[in-house]
Amino acid sequence: MPTKSKPARKSTRHRTPELLFGDLWEFDPAPELADPKLKQSYSLYINGQFVAPRSRKYFDSINPSTEKQLARIPAAGKADIDAAFSAAQTGYNKYWAKLPGKDRGKYLYRIARLLQDRSREFAVAESLDGGKPIKESRDFDLPLAAAHFFYYAGWADKLEYALPGVSAKPYGVVGQIIPWNFPLLMLAWKIAPALATGNCVVIKPAETTSITALKFAQIIQEADLPPGVVNIVSGAGATGQLIVNHPAAKKIAFTGSTEVGKAILRATAGSGKGLTLELGGKAANVVFDDAPIDQAVEGVINGIFFNQGHVCCAGSRLLVQESIAKVFVRKLKTRIASLRVGDPLDKNTDIGAINSKEQLDKIEQLVASGVEEGAELFQSSCSLPSQGWFYRPSLFLGVTQSHRIAREEIFGPVLSILTFRTISEAIEKANNTAYGLSAGVWTDKGSKILKMSTALQAGVIWANTYNKFDPASPFGGYKESGFGREGGKQGLCDYLKIVP
Ligand code: NAD
Repeated sequence: MPTKSKPARKSTRHRTPELLFGDLWEFDPAPELADPKLKQSYSLYINGQFVAPRSRKYFDSINPSTEKQLARIPAAGKADIDAAFSAAQTGYNKYWAKLPGKDRGKYLYRIARLLQDRSREFAVAESLDGGKPIKESRDFDLPLAAAHFFYYAGWADKLEYALPGVSAKPYGVVGQIIPWNFPLLMLAWKIAPALATGNCVVIKPAETTSITALKFAQIIQEADLPPGVVNIVSGAGATGQLIVNHPAAKKIAFTGSTEVGKAILRATAGSGKGLTLELGGKAANVVFDDAPIDQAVEGVINGIFFNQGHVCCAGSRLLVQESIAKVFVRKLKTRIASLRVGDPLDKNTDIGAINSKEQLDKIEQLVASGVEEGAELFQSSCSLPSQGWFYRPSLFLGVTQSHRIAREEIFGPVLSILTFRTISEAIEKANNTAYGLSAGVWTDKGSKILKMSTALQAGVIWANTYNKFDPASPFGGYKESGFGREGGKQGLCDYLKIVP
């Protein structure tokens, strides 16, 4: 529905596609009105209780679309982390280790259902705190988080089928650290398999997005989990280090940047602790000349602009076959011009706010490096809100493999486009990266899909689609994207130790 009287229709022959869409596709605001039930100030969740931090320190969580404070978040210090691990150890010895798998499963089902019941409330909280469009938190993050709890609830009493003929036991107490791009979903990926396999957890959300994790503590309490089984502690990197180095942590499960992942690898080396690292990526999305072009354009758009490009497996390098590059880029530009950037709580928003000022600065710096190194920048001419941290959907043409924008993870709505002539050139370019998390292939030929999926060095390869997830499907990387898997049977095995 137009907000203003319709402009007189002019000839569009010489107009750029972005002007065409900008004029005609004006939507009325469609705000999501559900109450996120936020508190002014949050508590740590330790031993089944909401407690003030012994550190007495707090920091602000900021709404990235308004730059205003949303809530006060506790910064857990050493005494808090000690208390959390002590509670987890007691919870394990006293309750969780003694509970049969079918009873652990019942708790997980209960958590899944409670999360479903409060899904709209959590979706709004996630969008407010993190900046992601409500249609993504509502239709992707929340349903998938609940699905992970349902899925692993089903495994809890069937672990002998995950590792047939092998005797395995849980680690006991595990420390878990998660990033800011999918706060509640990453929490579900961590907590659900850990509990299903009989572990107790101390988990820390990222400092810019702690709210849904601290709200999730209410669900743990409502589900009546025995005290100490799940402990949720907030704080920044220093709190993360306390978790990593805590002697009671028998395994560390980390999702975040490759840089911090390497520091954790060094810190845990020789300690005997189990470790899984889910790190960064620089995925190639490879489009062959026999691909269904319009479908591939949609897949490439989704691959890079989903969640503002704050996605570890984002298809941030488009490799397009030279013979179709011109038409493909023209269609991409037209599609980019139709993306709506703005209020994360508006149901029509395609691209919400950048999670933090720090991340916006990083994106701007990397884009500036692309221009400086000679790549050609195209940006949507859409209007941006006057307040908040936003970035225009962007693409770079004329990118070479040595450009920083082709090598480094931008973690923003910026696509680097390279071309190739032959399948072997595509494979070589796609694999020419330090990372190995994901990749996409677009072609009409099944044989090409099979060849590419064996040749590409990536943990997940999508064919004629992108960013598809299912709790039954394992996810994880190679090379500097880390090791270990989340999801599926493999995700269970990473929380179990083989007993000789
Ligand atoms: P980050 O590494 O800066 O922070 C991740 C978490 O680690 C946060 O909770 C942070 O507080 C904590 N942390 C920071 N320094 C620490 C330290 N020295 N010791 C222990 N903990 C510490 O990453 P980020 O910016 O929050 O997240 C973005 C990164 O996460 C990207 O690189 C992205 O690709 C990656 N990621 C990977 C996956 C995956 O499954 N592979 C999924 C999501 C995000």
